[in-house]
This record gives sequence, structure tokens and C-alpha cells, in this order.
Amino acid sequence: MNYIKLALLGSEGAGKSAVLVRFLTKRFIGEYASNANSLYHKRLSIDGRQLNLEVFDPCSQSGESRCILEEPVDWADGFVVVYTISDRASFLNAKNILAQIKESRRETCKGDVPICLVGNKQDLCHSRQVSEEEGCSLAQENNCLFQEVSAAENYLEIGNLFTKLIRHVMEQLKHRGDRRRYSGSKSMAKLINNVFGKRRKSV
Ligand code: GDP
Ligand code: MG
Repeated sequence: MNYIKLALLGSEGAGKSAVLVRFLTKRFIGEYASNANSLYHKRLSIDGRQLNLEVFDPCSQSGESRCILEEPVDWADGFVVVYTISDRASFLNAKNILAQIKESRRETCKGDVPICLVGNKQDLCHSRQVSEEEGCSLAQENNCLFQEVSAAENYLEIGNLFTKLIRHVMEQLKHRGDRRRYSGSKSMAKLINNVFGKRRKSV
């Protein structure tokens, strides 16, 4: 069984939970609990391989992105960095987050990390503040995937971007031989509880 760990990062209200819930359940429910970190767990099959996916969805606390970042950056195999196309501040924050991920990975010598930059709320294009080209070139500068989506309206792009990102993670793990993964005797659940507290959700 392959274990894949992803973390969602981005400004409060960018739509991290909405994007994730759309991917996991194909639904959009409009309002999402935002007062606690959540860890979602799902089994899925990609390219005929069984995967155990864990996705960390942090609660948003504006102004504390740095401290929210540190643990997921070390824990995750890949990232979904979400901004809102109608909110330039969230785009600048995403830019910041990408830089922090790179910096942190350089320090720990873990090399290139699979990331997808996501411009959410594409349905709000009448109040767009970030062009698709800007998103695309930020992604290119950071060597990551890019997709504009609307968690409110569509599943397909979101499903595809997670699949691409997971494929990328699987490739990386194969090449890296991932020492961390097999190094300790701690069970996965124990490790996650230590890092993120006890909340755990299955879907
Ligand atoms: P988070 O803080 O990043 O987890 O953001 P949420 O997922 O809680 O979403 C914040 C708000 O934006 C909620 O009211 C959602 O209903 C709304 N929202 C999320 N995705 C979309 C979208 O694609 N389009 C629109 N119009 N609203 C969205
Ligand atoms: Mg949320």
C-alpha cells in the first residue's frame, strides 16, 4: 500500500476546504468548519495502484501562516496551494507560501516538491483581480502545476489536478526511496496525532 500525504495551504477563505471537499465527495456544501485543523483520509486507486491518501486541511488563522506552515511542510509529500482569483492578497500570500515551501525544503535537502497552485473561485470572474497568465507564470517560476477551478461549480478540474499531483508524488517517492517513510517504528496514526492533534476524519 502506498501512503500519500498532501497538505492544503493558502489564505483564510481562499477555498481550501471547499476544494478538498469537492475532490473527496464531489460536492459543494457552501460553508465549511474552519476552527480546527482537519486530517482527511481516503483510499483510492490511480493507474491501478491502491493508495492511502491523507490530506491535511489547516484551520485558517490569518497572520499566522508561518507557524501553520512549518509542520505541514515537513510532513507532506505534496501541496495544494490555493488562492482566490478575485482576491489579490490571497495570490500574494500564495506566492509567499511557495517561497516558504522551497526554502524549507532546501534546508532539509529534500529537493523538488510536488505542488499544484490553484486559482479558485473561477466563477467570480466578473470581479477577477488575478489574471490566469499571472497564476500560470507564478507556477512556472516555481516549477509547479497550475489550475484555475471553481469548487462551487465544477468537479472535473479539481479531480484532475489531484490525480496529476498524486502521480507526481508517486514518481518522486519512487526516485527518492523515501527514507523518512520507513525509518521509524511509529505508526502512521500515532505520528499524525502527534503532529496535528487528534482530529481525524474519514470520508
Ligand atoms: P478556506 O478558509 O480556505 O478553507 O475557505 P472555505 O473552503 O471555507 O471557503 C471560504 C468561502 O468561500 C466559503 O463561503 C465558500 O462557500 C466560498 N467558496 C469556496 N469555493 C468557492 C468557489 O469556487 N466559488 C465561490 N463563489 N465561492 C467559493
Ligand atoms: Mg477551511
